[in-house]
Amino acid sequence: MARYRGSVCKLCRREKIKLFLKGERCFSPKCPVEKQAAVSKGRKQVRIRRTRTRLSEYGMQLKEKQRARLMTGVLEKQFRKYFRKAEREKGLPGENLLRLLECRLDNIVFRLGFASSRSQARQLVRHRHTRVNGRCVDIPSYQVRVGDRISLDEKSKQLEIVKVAQEKAKERGLPAWIEFDQSTSTGRILELPKREEISIPVQEQLIVELYSK
Ligand code: SF4
Repeated sequence: MARYRGSVCKLCRREKIKLFLKGERCFSPKCPVEKQAAVSKGRKQVRIRRTRTRLSEYGMQLKEKQRARLMTGVLEKQFRKYFRKAEREKGLPGENLLRLLECRLDNIVFRLGFASSRSQARQLVRHRHTRVNGRCVDIPSYQVRVGDRISLDEKSKQLEIVKVAQEKAKERGLPAWIEFDQSTSTGRILELPKREEISIPVQEQLIVELYSK
């Protein structure tokens, strides 16, 4: 999200979904999308339906791609590269694409609760706080593999933002494909995630159609 100016909550309102761009606020009732839903749930649903019917097929495809991109904080050029890679892999390109996004190191740092948002996780990685199998990795797009152990540098574990994020993350829990050892604050990738275990709420088939033109 480094290139976006202004309140990121506007992006969620525009996309009409929670993109989880603002850390802890996203998991609280203070989230503007939550508030809006609580106040006018019925009216909002009607409005969304009307908006959707106005969108062309191309518009829908573009919107899904934009949602996935905003949520994961990946720039257009890199996103396209992920898609080309996903196409070359075995299996469904859409699912492969989401798996590649989900297995980025910054996303794993966020999932493990070391950070409150993906952008904060990206900062932690870039500033050399993260370790993969004991070695410093400062590339947010680094793809984790099965068996990888992800942790923070000993000093970094004491950072206030990390402590706060970890405390809050306890309420959210972890996906089944990641294990977390509390005693050493280390996560381990047990297996690659299946589609239903990836919480990026997009219709990936529309993204495939968009890039297949
Ligand atoms: Fe703002 Fe987060 Fe709610 Fe989006 S999900 S509107 S970024 S608080």
